[in-house]
Amino acid sequence: MEIMYTSTRDGNLKVSASQAILKGLAPGGGLFVPTALPKLSIPVEKLAEMDYRETAYEVMKLFLTDFTEEELKSCIFQAYDSKFDTEEVAPIAKAGDNYFLELFHGKTIAFKDMALSILPYLLTTAAKKNNVTNDIVILTATSGDTGKAALAGFAGVKGTKIIVFYPKNGVSPIQEKQMVTQKEDNTLVVGIHGNFDEAQTGVKKMFADETLAAELDAAGYQFSSANSINIGRLVPQIVYYVYAYARMYKEREIKSGEFLNFVVPTGNFGNILAAYYAKNIGLPIGKLICASNENKVLYDFFQTGKYDKNREFVLTSSPSMDILVSSNLERLIYHIAGNDPAKNKELMQSLSDTGEYGISEKMRENLDGFYGNYASEAEVAETIRGLYEKTGYVMDTHTAVAVCVYQKYQNETGDTAKTVIASTASPYKFTRSVMSAIDPKYRDMEDFALADELSRIAKVAVPQAIEEIRNAEIRHKTECETDQMPEIVKGFLKK
Ligand SMILES: *Cc1c(COP(=O)(O)O)cnc(C)c1O
Repeated sequence: MEIMYTSTRDGNLKVSASQAILKGLAPGGGLFVPTALPKLSIPVEKLAEMDYRETAYEVMKLFLTDFTEEELKSCIFQAYDSKFDTEEVAPIAKAGDNYFLELFHGKTIAFKDMALSILPYLLTTAAKKNNVTNDIVILTATSGDTGKAALAGFAGVKGTKIIVFYPKNGVSPIQEKQMVTQKEDNTLVVGIHGNFDEAQTGVKKMFADETLAAELDAAGYQFSSANSINIGRLVPQIVYYVYAYARMYKEREIKSGEFLNFVVPTGNFGNILAAYYAKNIGLPIGKLICASNENKVLYDFFQTGKYDKNREFVLTSSPSMDILVSSNLERLIYHIAGNDPAKNKELMQSLSDTGEYGISEKMRENLDGFYGNYASEAEVAETIRGLYEKTGYVMDTHTAVAVCVYQKYQNETGDTAKTVIASTASPYKFTRSVMSAIDPKYRDMEDFALADELSRIAKVAVPQAIEEIRNAEIRHKTECETDQMPEIVKGFLKK
């Protein structure tokens, strides 16, 4: 079955998978969604015998139907190789009664590696297929995590360049060090004198600048985005839900066809949406449990049917979930409205005009498979400490949000179905918050000393990603004012 992609805001649009990946965002501001959902027809007994790469091929080929077998396998094999520090790529760890799907074994020790490791290859393949001869230039504004994951994904990939802008005084010392030590000549990291929003606005302006686009085209370049709304990031995320199910079956934790719940610590709604697609292609998933931190817009939405971003933005210890507008939720809205672009467009217009929208009773019924709740900062710290004391397993702050919400879910519903928690970051990425939760005495310790201490108490080796930056050379020292961003880009591309 050939799968085409349409826009959540324009039903007349139809493009191939490779075109959707190249474009990222649909014209008119909508997101690309599949016009029909494929079926996962391969039995779990067979999936259980496959490694991560083979599973990735079986799942991704259903969605990216205009890629040849050779193209897709080449992308998969270049992405999921020894960059991951375990052969399993996404192993399941059991601690107490909890199953953790560890999505943090890639280069930057957070789950964004799962998709950003393969996106560069999907993009360059898509460019070739569509006779694009320009080099692809990725422009990204980052508040910390995405920038490094995108850099690590694109570094050294032929036919691409990547430029990352970050607020010079707005990221953590470890995050900054991770970025400015990035190797490979096709990368550029720039600290701007301004905040994240200004960096973001500067990047958006360049994307919209037609004169700049023409200039770049003449020089053999075109811009693209590594943003989480690209289906080239969404589709690779469906893989690990299928893989996790097959692992649970192989380990005899579940029977064939038995329903499995997933808990997903959620920000932009990309990760949990991938689980929703996994369920809708036929994976036996019970509840999708959406876990939020104190920025609990999604919890309120599931409670009331009203999405309302007009509220105070809270800085939490799980910063990758500090989000008030979850961009990928638009795809779910489109689907629960019965794949209705007009209805979705009306609601998104309301969101942009007033900061809120409400969905109908009928749409709410279609949210049946979801459960939402949230964890406060105190609960997150308590959850980290509690599990460590009980089992010795140390989890990161984002994962702790999920564990806490899962406990609330169990208390409320009594549901005893087997449940897998998506573990989205290594505790080494958020050492300070994690260690202070375990014991306040760690509060004043220096960053790398904390990492060593974590290694000692958790009995887990310090990951390569942290070792690498300990003594790494600073390679990027460019700083600029926000209005100089286009000059910096042009200067880098002239080289
Ligand atoms: C990005 C991120 C999330 C949120 O994922 P979404 O797909 O945006 O919902 C959760 N945890 C970590 C560690 C992340 O980096």
